[in-house]
Amino acid sequence: YRGAIIKNCHLPGETLDGYRLKVKANIELYEEVAQVIDNGGDGIGLFRTEYTYLNRTELPTEEELFEHYRDLADILAPRRVILRTLDLGADKFMAHFGRLEEQNPAMGLRAVRFCLRNRELFRTQLRAIARASVVGNISIMFPMISGLKELRQSMNLLRQCQAELTAQGLPHNPGMPVGMMVELPSAVMTAEIMAREVDFFSIGTNDLIQYSLGIDRTNRHVSYLYQPLHPAVVRSIKHVTDSAHQAGIECNLCGEMASDPFCVPILMGMQIDAISLNPQNIPGIKHIIRQTTMDDCKKLLKQVLESPTVARTNQLVRETIFQQF
Ligand code: PEP
Ligand code: MG
Repeated sequence: YRGAIIKNCHLPGETLDGYRLKVKANIELYEEVAQVIDNGGDGIGLFRTEYTYLNRTELPTEEELFEHYRDLADILAPRRVILRTLDLGADKFMAHFGRLEEQNPAMGLRAVRFCLRNRELFRTQLRAIARASVVGNISIMFPMISGLKELRQSMNLLRQCQAELTAQGLPHNPGMPVGMMVELPSAVMTAEIMAREVDFFSIGTNDLIQYSLGIDRTNRHVSYLYQPLHPAVVRSIKHVTDSAHQAGIECNLCGEMASDPFCVPILMGMQIDAISLNPQNIPGIKHIIRQTTMDDCKKLLKQVLESPTVARTNQLVRETIFQQF
């Protein structure tokens, strides 16, 4: 059975009634690319760029980053690669900057907040990504966007970098798609507004669950409350997906929730455009997609949106989807 799942992982993530969903990988190392290809990944939905900055004191140069991103896009072409700009801070520190004195680091100076405070660091990465975008199929996305001002500041800096490259005669793709992660409740609530300014959304449920339910994702004492199928989380994702589709943009989801067989049929019911997960889980999730109908997923979603508890939601998934397996 396991052999058949692995063998079929190179087939598309398509339901029995013909609905296609992209199943991509979340990675942080170039060395993981072979695993993505072997497991049938339809590209990279999230490349965590922090790794190059950790375990060293000096900052990486533009040239080093450019070569790294270019090689990644090149080896995966024509598959799409979404590079997320730096998400340093919270649990990821760079020796160059040292650990900040913060009482609540998860709510502190991290991700785009940190980058906008350290403009040169941000500019170096943006220039490297823009330069690499002439190779393969690269998109860029910003993490932890809390509102329009932060999004526009990040976008403006990217546009400035692109204009500089043009002036310097350095090649880049001015049409590189630009997206944002939706991982804060403020971004969920303003999704219709944000959707007008980006090319795509990617929902980061690891953080979205943490901030929506007030559960520190690294605190084992409250991990029992960390529930991806909490009605508040399901409704948030539905709102973001609908807002994206109304604005005519794509909606991806790149949190761990995309590896959970109980969550995926619900996300499919929302007609999410792509999910992105650990490469080793791609064959199993594709198998579930290929054994399911969109019709069932839509019926399931309708009921789940009325469900008051996680227990009831799990029961609905079991009855509607897994009874046939
Ligand atoms: C997320 O928050 O869901 C996410 C994908 O980003 P990270 O886990 O890197 O914070
Ligand atoms: Mg996150």
